[in-house]
Amino acid sequence: MLSDPAAAAWVAAGRPAVDAPPPVDGRCGRCGEDGPTVTSARIISEKFTGFDAWPFGSRRLCVPCAWAYTRQPTTQPALLITATTVTEYSTGAALADVLTDGPLSSTQAVVLPTARRRHILPAAQWGHLATDGLVVPWDAPAAARLTDLVWLRTTVGATWPQLSRSAPPSRLLRTQPAEHWPRILAAWPALQTWRITPPLWATARSLTNPPPAAAELA
Ligand SMILES: [Zn+2]
Repeated sequence: MLSDPAAAAWVAAGRPAVDAPPPVDGRCGRCGEDGPTVTSARIISEKFTGFDAWPFGSRRLCVPCAWAYTRQPTTQPALLITATTVTEYSTGAALADVLTDGPLSSTQAVVLPTARRRHILPAAQWGHLATDGLVVPWDAPAAARLTDLVWLRTTVGATWPQLSRSAPPSRLLRTQPAEHWPRILAAWPALQTWRITPPLWATARSLTNPPPAAAELA
């Protein structure tokens, strides 16, 4: 069985040790793996409130899970994790190329921080996009929705405040050639499922923001 994305990222990073007393045998409270574990108190701040998401009870962590918690949320880059590789992305927009391509496979996982207040890597799942407080399957409809959103922001020139409305403004439609209308009118309501979910809407924005250089030219 393939280990989870956090463990795959730990292996890709060269199996780094964590800053804790030597591991002792036990069960990881987060992933349930039996083996060497360290006490979570040395890894995770006292303010951490995510223990409820640990299904295995103990407050010990296997080394890969402990390592996944050692990077502070504020410094976590966007990642594409596969069974053997980890690719860092300096902007969400670079990841959009991967995510518009189609669904994530069962050997791919994406970590995309937006608010940078929570640990996201430990929650990553194969075939899913993990962002602040949310892990969603990245399926064909999601890829199609993102493709349409890129088109709406670039080709159509819709602004983010416009896109945040549930229907396309008539002022925007009037500026568009008639052949764009059917796609605009289909894509706009299809985004509603993201619009009403703040972490997903923030993710959608970060994935489609123009790169800084392009923003300067605009
Ligand atoms: Zn673990």
